Amino acid sequence: MGDDSRLGPEERRRALRRMADEQFDVAIVGGGVTGCGAALDAATRGLSVALLEKRDLAAGTSSRSSKLIHGGLRYLEQLQFGLVREALREQTLLATRLCPHLVRPVPFLFPLRRPAIDRAWIGAGVLLYDWLAHPRALPRHRHLSRRRCLELFPSLRREGLAGGIQYWDAQVDDARHTLALARSAALHGAALATSLRAVGFLVREGRVQGVRARCLETGAELEVRARQVINATGVWTERVRDLAGGGGLRVRASKGIHLLVPRERIRSETGLIARTATSVLFVIPWKETWILGTTDTDWSLDLDHPAASRRDIEYLLGAVNAVLAEPLTRADVLGVYAGLRPLLYGESDATSELSREHAVATADSGLISVAGGKYTTYRVMARDAVDLAATRLPGAVPPSCTDRIPLLGADGHAGWCQRADALAREADLPRWRIDGLLGRYGSRIGELLALARERPELALPLEGAPGYLRVEAFYAAANEGALHLDDVLTRRTRISVETRDRGVRAAGPVCELMAAVLGWDAATRAREIAHYEARVAAERDSQEQPDDRTADAARLGAPDVRTAGERAPAPAAPEKQRSSGA
Ligand SMILES: Cc1cc2nc3c(=O)[nH]c(=O)nc-3n(C[C@H](O)[C@H](O)[C@H](O)COP(=O)(O)OP(=O)(O)OC[C@H]3O[C@@H](n4cnc5c(N)ncnc54)[C@H](O)[C@@H]3O)c2cc1C
Repeated sequence: MGDDSRLGPEERRRALRRMADEQFDVAIVGGGVTGCGAALDAATRGLSVALLEKRDLAAGTSSRSSKLIHGGLRYLEQLQFGLVREALREQTLLATRLCPHLVRPVPFLFPLRRPAIDRAWIGAGVLLYDWLAHPRALPRHRHLSRRRCLELFPSLRREGLAGGIQYWDAQVDDARHTLALARSAALHGAALATSLRAVGFLVREGRVQGVRARCLETGAELEVRARQVINATGVWTERVRDLAGGGGLRVRASKGIHLLVPRERIRSETGLIARTATSVLFVIPWKETWILGTTDTDWSLDLDHPAASRRDIEYLLGAVNAVLAEPLTRADVLGVYAGLRPLLYGESDATSELSREHAVATADSGLISVAGGKYTTYRVMARDAVDLAATRLPGAVPPSCTDRIPLLGADGHAGWCQRADALAREADLPRWRIDGLLGRYGSRIGELLALARERPELALPLEGAPGYLRVEAFYAAANEGALHLDDVLTRRTRISVETRDRGVRAAGPVCELMAAVLGWDAATRAREIAHYEARVAAERDSQEQPDDRTADAARLGAPDVRTAGERAPAPAAPEKQRSSGA
């Protein structure tokens, strides 16, 4: 029996044929969490759906977040109770029903400096937070003495520490979650294609009737006819909207960066949250590392490849060192990533004060745009956008049911978890590997283990990134829509930020595994590696630059690997790039 959720090369060809031949009820531009969520929402209402993503699934903001599924404790200070309650409701739904295989609880310690005021003020906040989440799927907060804080977080700076409060939120691998949404949408009949850029709209009598698209693999142009078109392009919203003549939402970008450092550099059993001058500091456990985040600064430069500058990195290290007993240095940094928050134009000039609430709007052309919000509330955004599209479609369209649709990999996940020891024995793999695979693939783990049984070399650890198995790179190209090396190293896995060499050593083996699926010849393999190495070198270079403008210029030294039909400068040989830094 075929697997309709599969996003392999043949399925992409089929999706492109469907896009050329059919008229869809809804076409969605943008394959981030909002667009993929809208594709699933529309498909599960029985609508025919096409989704176009210009680069890779989650290549925009949806792979670059802090990876928290949270209500946003700090929005309580802004008295946005409705927003917090809605997000906490989504948190419970995601953690218990929709994708418990991908979402896991994380404890956060809030260190207190002023014993009475902080304990009363922050204590009231977390009490309200737990209460708003009712029924709470995660453990409730608890107050901690100074001694207990230091037992839980031995690396915490002792001076001025008066005690703490620990509360719980949840985390997700954002790119893998977006992928699960996309595959779930495909399972329900949506046609999805990546490397497919919307370059214009089909407009008849002043109304948008579809999308003009260009395939960035071949340069071929395509017309996708649709009764309604949803623009779900995050920080690109205005650019895409302008292709249809403008009007509708106004969105600006705010940059946030994250650093990854090895787990042993911070001794702690818990994550940490603290206030900074402009944003919130998070120290978040992530596999064998800690993710440190984040910053919040206006960004008006390249949207595709936001760059972290030396200033950003030093600011973040300074913020985390203010709470640590032993300071971190640049040499501790394994990986760096930067993302852009799509913020609706708001009432304040300071980006961290802008509302994270979302909006759905229609332009005069009929193009629907949805933007704002946050990762956690993607399902609500998707529902609202499809609700609006549904009012303009002929016939009755059923209401959204995505609150009852477990995502790919969630079905039977509990049973697979209970069998983890047996799976480890049968596959001759250590238990931690099975747990890791269950956390990335859920009940789809059986497909990877079957591949590894058929071809035992796939069961080996990946050279250069031994936390992953070789089969994961193979599966990414065969089933998960990965078309380029960068897709596997950056989003299907997180090798590009989790390893000190940023995936350069793993690039060769991953390239060979992908080549076997995608039929790459020697020239294509060399080109893929050259592109990846040029990207890593340009990122390292940008992270040595003093400010946004110089960092952006350095990052743009490496061209995107998807450029067919666009201006396509060849990547410079990696050794000719300037390279330095962490
Ligand atoms: C630093 C940072 C930390 C964050 N942390 C959290 C967090 O912990 N929790 C949380 O809930 N939220 C968080 N967020 C917010 C959250 O990540 C975003 O709200 C969310 O990912 C936005 O998703 P999106 O689908 O709307 O946009 P995107 O993910 O950017 O998707 C838009 C897509 O449109 C595509 N596109 C653009 N133009 C075209 C075109 N012409 N044709 C085809 N495709 C096109 C892009 O390639 C992109 O893939 C964070 C954001 C940032 C920046």
